[in-house]
Amino acid sequence: MSALILDGKTLAAQTEAELSERVAALKAANNGQAPILATILVGGDPASATYVKMKQNACKRVGMDSIAVEMADDTSTEQLLAKIEELNSNPNCHGILLQHPTPKQIDERACFDAIALAKDVDGVTCLGFGRMAMNEEAYGSATPQGIMRILQGYNIEMSGKHAVVVGRSPILGKPMALMLLNANATVTICHSKTENLPELIKQADILVGAVGRPEFIKAEWIKDGAVVVDAGYHPGGVGDIELAPLVDRVAAYTPVPGGVGPMTINTLILQSVVAAEKSLG
Ligand code: NAP
Repeated sequence: MSALILDGKTLAAQTEAELSERVAALKAANNGQAPILATILVGGDPASATYVKMKQNACKRVGMDSIAVEMADDTSTEQLLAKIEELNSNPNCHGILLQHPTPKQIDERACFDAIALAKDVDGVTCLGFGRMAMNEEAYGSATPQGIMRILQGYNIEMSGKHAVVVGRSPILGKPMALMLLNANATVTICHSKTENLPELIKQADILVGAVGRPEFIKAEWIKDGAVVVDAGYHPGGVGDIELAPLVDRVAAYTPVPGGVGPMTINTLILQSVVAAEKSLG
């Protein structure tokens, strides 16, 4: 039996078609004013520049505008905070994306937390995280929220299932675990100090790999019939999980590429449109 492919690329494209209609309706009702996402890129890291470009292109595809802020490598925390404050007060900016990671001298947490909650469309603030954890209204962190949208889009049962999340970063593993908990999964969070990792992974009905190391999670650790979500993406087109031997024995899996990645960007755009709808009415 071959596994169900959790095709994030197709799901993202379908959502973009719906979002284009919502953006067109917003423009029609607001004298042509489009939703605007501000992207902030600090420094010249080529991978970060590529991610920001992909996000700006996704804005264009649904008819949104973006404000592209580019700041030098030696930007200080104070300078970045001032820029965020300016965007917070700009009524024509509906969402703010600060591309992670920022250069070392920057207090990234302070800068994330300076983003106004109403414009935190990438779901990076402590306040938004806390509200999400408490099941209050908030924009979820884009990657785990995108993963939840894939699981929901394919009607994957989460209630009562044992979900194992490998990774506990602030933007991925930690919010992922809480989102799965809110969906009534029983959740185990693993990290670099976890003992007996293969035994814990073996228990997973739903496994999320968010480790940042190519094919670190071995196929033989994963039980037959599991739902496998791979958030990783590395050169050579592999993720954090050894996927190839699994395709005939798990229930479902996200391909790499074409699984989690497109849904992350799509979630950022979706949440930006929602923020603009709230602001423009
Ligand atoms: P990260 O900040 O580097 O966090 C990695 C996590 O993995 C940490 O919590 C770390 O544990 C844990 N870890 C490291 N070595 C481990 C080990 N030997 N055993 C168990 N856990 C271990 O990475 P991230 O930003 O969360 O990203 C994770 C992956 O997702 C990466 O492959 C990244 O490229 C990908 N990603 C994809 C998207 C997308 O849009 N598709 C977006 C973001 C990230 P400690 O906390 O103990 O250090």
